[in-house]
Amino acid sequence: MKKKFNLKAKTQRFRAWRERPREVAPMSQEEHECLNCHDHYTGNYCPRCGQAANTDRFSMKVAAENFAEAYGMGERGMFRTILDLILRPGYLILDYLRGMRASYFAPFKMYFLLAAVSLLVTHGLNITGHALHDDSKSVTEGMRQEHDNGRTSNTTSTLEDNFPTKVQGVTVDEEGVHSSFEEDYPMESRIYSIIYNTLDKIERFEQKYPSINILLMLMLISGILYLFFRHSPNIPDLRYPELFISLVYIANMYTVYSIVFDFFSLTKFTSYALFLTIIPLKQMSGFSWWRTILKTVVAFTIMIVLLVAFIVLAVLAAGFFVKYHG
Ligand SMILES: [Zn+2]
Repeated sequence: MKKKFNLKAKTQRFRAWRERPREVAPMSQEEHECLNCHDHYTGNYCPRCGQAANTDRFSMKVAAENFAEAYGMGERGMFRTILDLILRPGYLILDYLRGMRASYFAPFKMYFLLAAVSLLVTHGLNITGHALHDDSKSVTEGMRQEHDNGRTSNTTSTLEDNFPTKVQGVTVDEEGVHSSFEEDYPMESRIYSIIYNTLDKIERFEQKYPSINILLMLMLISGILYLFFRHSPNIPDLRYPELFISLVYIANMYTVYSIVFDFFSLTKFTSYALFLTIIPLKQMSGFSWWRTILKTVVAFTIMIVLLVAFIVLAVLAAGFFVKYHG
């Protein structure tokens, strides 16, 4: 009985702590002389040149901080921001949107740093010591090979061999003469090659710039989520760029979890971590759990429907293009 009461009190204290904005340490009233420009002042930074008041002589610690700074990790906000992303992600985002910028590591900078760490971990810096995801053939790589086979070899393997079973066999005419799919179905073949080329280009871009690709995805997702979260109890007038920045932080939260899971080779959990993104959305909006989940599910359903519609339109457009321009 007593234990339960304590737990409840602790939970309540944790919740109150989570929701309160970060407190910035009070400013010291000590007078400093700037070691760079010799101005006298009170405060943490020189008002004339901006050098920090606590500029110490070089020690191993200072040297290490200097080194870390060269890689964009010098700010102490980095670890606090990671901790906050785990313990109070939505409230961190609220702090940030309401103007507490200096207390937190900037979202984009953090995004690219975490992406680099994640890459290291999936490519071998983990407890197994080798790359986690084997570089299995991608969709268009498979298609590319089929396509090349169809074009280059004039003996056995043609494009038709690799086509869906529905059209296979049709190309063998009554005399049993083996004619090529491209000759019998010039239009379908052209549409196929246009779609294949487009997919191939998209995939090459994704492989070359995975971070940019995810940012573009986040732009799309925030566009749809915006319809459902622009008026919420905590932010009645959310702007689209604000939601986009929030999603970058949410992506950072996901990357932190995935780095930890990947490091211990628990790759199954990495995809489950996607569900955790509901937590910051709930905390920052102030909607109830069920409302947040409902809104998110509807938003993602709309997105999938739009993507399918877009693909259908693209196939139709390719069809029209081939019909009227050959
Ligand atoms: Zn100064």
